[in-house]
Formats: sequence, C-alpha cells, structure tokens
Amino acid sequence: MIFALIGNQNSGKTTLFNQLTGSNQRVGNFPGVTVERKEGIIKGHKEATVVDLPGIYSISPYSNEEIVTRDFLLKSRPDAIINIVDATNIERNLYLTLQLIELEIPMVLALNMMDEVRSNGNTIDIKGLQTELGIPVVPISAVKNEGITELVDKALLVIEKQRKPKILDFCTGAVHRTIHAVAHLIEDHAEKIGVPRRFAATKLVEGDDIMQEALKLSENEIDMIAHSVTEMETDLGIDREAALADMRYNFIEKLCQNNVVKTGKSKEHERSILIDKLLTHKYFAIPTFLLIMLTIFWLTFDVIGQRISDLLSLGIDNLTGLVDTMLANYGLNPVVHSLVIDGIFAGVGSVLSFIPIIVTLFFFLSILEDSGYMARIAFVMDKLLRKIGLSGRSVVPMLIGFGCSVPAIMSTRTLSSDRDRKMTILLTPFMSCSAKLPIYAV
Ligand code: GDP
Ligand code: MG
Repeated sequence: MIFALIGNQNSGKTTLFNQLTGSNQRVGNFPGVTVERKEGIIKGHKEATVVDLPGIYSISPYSNEEIVTRDFLLKSRPDAIINIVDATNIERNLYLTLQLIELEIPMVLALNMMDEVRSNGNTIDIKGLQTELGIPVVPISAVKNEGITELVDKALLVIEKQRKPKILDFCTGAVHRTIHAVAHLIEDHAEKIGVPRRFAATKLVEGDDIMQEALKLSENEIDMIAHSVTEMETDLGIDREAALADMRYNFIEKLCQNNVVKTGKSKEHERSILIDKLLTHKYFAIPTFLLIMLTIFWLTFDVIGQRISDLLSLGIDNLTGLVDTMLANYGLNPVVHSLVIDGIFAGVGSVLSFIPIIVTLFFFLSILEDSGYMARIAFVMDKLLRKIGLSGRSVVPMLIGFGCSVPAIMSTRTLSSDRDRKMTILLTPFMSCSAKLPIYAV
C-alpha cells in the first residue's frame, strides 16, 4: 500500500513523516529532476509505505515540485492520499485540498497543529468539516504525537473500503456550467488516459496546456472548450484562473464560516496585519524597502563592518610587521622572506579583511529572512521583476549577491521554476559584492 503525504510548505509534513516512519526512511530524487523524494515504512504496518511529496500550494504545472506531485498522483496512483493541513492557516491550506479531492483517490485529511488552535482559544468542528468535504478528517498534532495512530487507522480504512471522496462539486454559477460542459465533452479522452474527468475538466478550464496535450483533443473540441471558457470569462468579468480561484475560495470561506470558531483574536495577528499594510503598500512599499536596504548597507559598510574590518587589518598589519622583523633577524633567504610576507601575509590578509563586512551583511539579511520581510519584498518586487522575466523571489539571491555570489547562487535552489533559477544564477554575479569594487576601480 502506498500513501502519498501532501500538503503546503510548513504544514508539518516532515514532522508527521518522521512520526509515521520513525527511522525507516529512504531519500532519493524523483527521476530527472532535483526534487527530493523521501519514502518510509509506517511504524507497525510493514505493508504500508508513505511517500513524502514536495510542499505545494496548488496542482498546476508551473514548478518542478508541482509537476512531480501531479505526475506521481496521476501516473503512480497511490492507494491513498494523506493531506496534511495546517489548522492555524486552514483557509489557505484547503485550497490544495479541494484540488486533491478531484483526483478521486481515497483520501484522509490530517488537521495538524491542533495544539496551537486550542491554545489560541479557537475551535474547529471536525464532524462538520468531514460532512461538507466528504472525506474523513483527523485532528492531530505532529510535534506532540497526538492523533497519529487514529490517522493511520483511518487511512488504512479508506483503502480497505475504497472510500473515495464523496463530494466533488465545489462550483456554482458560470464556473459550474463550464466545468460540467467541459467534463462531458472530454469524458472519453480522460478515461482513455486514466485521469479523473472532473480533474481534467477543471485543469482545462484553468488553461493547463500540459493537460490539453495529454488528453489528445481534436481541434474542434479545443475550440468548443475555448468558447465555453470565453463565455464564462465575460459572464464573470474575470479571467479563467481567477474564476476558479474565486470559486474555491468562496467554497472555503463558507466552509470555515460554518465550522471554524475564532474567538481568540490574537493581538499579534492584528499588529502583523497593520505592519504588512505599510510594508506592502502600493506607494510606500518600495521607498520603505530602499530605506531599509540603505540602512543595512550603511551599517554594514560604514558603521559596523568597516570598523571591524579596519581593526582586523590593523591586527594583520601588526602581525605582519612582527613576523617581518622576526624573519629578518633570523636571516632568512630574501626570496622565502618575500614569499611569506608579500605573498602569504599580504594576500591572505587582504582577503580576510573582507570577512567582517560579509558576515555583517549576512547577519542583517538573515534578520530580514527570519522576520518574514524577505517574503514581503518578493511579493512587492514581483511585478517589477516580471517585466524582465523573473519572479519576485529572485530578489533574495540578488540581495545576498551584495555579500557574496557563492551563497547567492546556492540560494537560487528555492526558486520554483528552472527558468527563473537559471536567469537568476546568470544575473547574480553582476551584483556588486565588496570584492568586486576594487576590481572595478582598477
Ligand atoms: P514541512 O515544511 O511541511 O515539512 O513542515 P515541518 O515538518 O518542517 O514543520 C514546520 C514547522 O511546524 C516546524 O517548526 C514544526 O516544528 C512545526 N510543527 C509541525 N507540526 C506541528 C504541530 O502539530 N504543532 C505545532 N505547534 N507545531 C508544529
Ligand atoms: Mg519538509
């Protein structure tokens, strides 16, 4: 039996995976791509293997992670899906759930981080969620090892009973009409390649070229779908992707209104929203960003880094002088003397004196990263960077590039598409790190 473990990033997938498998893990890569594939045997159930899939937010074909997950689900057809959902961010997490349900694979929802939900004073109606979603829901806390046994039992049960998700229809109005029309039209094609027709239809309405290719539709059918979609877009006044996103979020909103009780309004959350309003504001966002970066550069290159750097070179100079006189007194061969003093000390010394600046810059950048400001910058810069064909996330490697190109290029790992990664890798070395400035000057 194969279980696929799927969820958003930071929903606790790795934590749950470790709880489920203990130390029986194997790590490899998905064939052809550098996306990690981890699998392990569930403790106490030799017959059950669980595969940890990459953290994703949607099953579209945009990033390697999404393509890997989608291929795995459609081609290998796992026996069941364990969808892990961060209960403290339930609205956003359920967006993926709604798409997984359309795959018509037996599925259990693991509602993680329930310990936090409780300590915030909120409650979630598990039974209600279960009925409205049409799949079993198990509240768990992966870190506290609560509810894991029940989760495994429920997962084994859905396989045994071959219990597919009961409800598929999350759509209303124009979207509903379009999805169903397309679903009927492509029914035979979807069956032929073994893809659930509702899933295929939704993807076609979203404008998914890979799905269109795979289904081998005729010109005529492609035309008919395009007409239905255009009709829907004019009816709703928004484009196809937005229409489907709207449909899913409308459903989720209602679902949460009915089943999630948020009594504990946390002050931290309100404050965070207020700060975000300024940091991602239409006009203030970029000036704020520039101000923050200027401050960091000023602190790094002038106030802190440069001073430490000066102190360090002073130390190195003194040491060099000391060794110089020592060697001179010892009467060493002038060639060896020059090699040690002019070569090793001067050479290594001048490289060493850069280190304080780099360390200081990285210190500030890691504060930006851990405070979540980097994610806001990526969001703000997205529109601008798209104009040169990059995504907002490329900002992070580029900023790191001011410190040093090596870690900057390494950090492009986190970019989602191969193309973005390559573009960013090529552009990053043009960011001026402090070692490049003297070279420009010369
Ligand atoms: P992944 O990105 O989905 O693999 O998520 P991780 O397993 O790395 O977890 C992300 C963070 O959430 C980590 O800091 C975990 O310690 C934390 N976490 C995971 N499960 C729970 C939980 O049940 N309760 C709480 N409070 N934190 C959790
Ligand atoms: Mg993980």
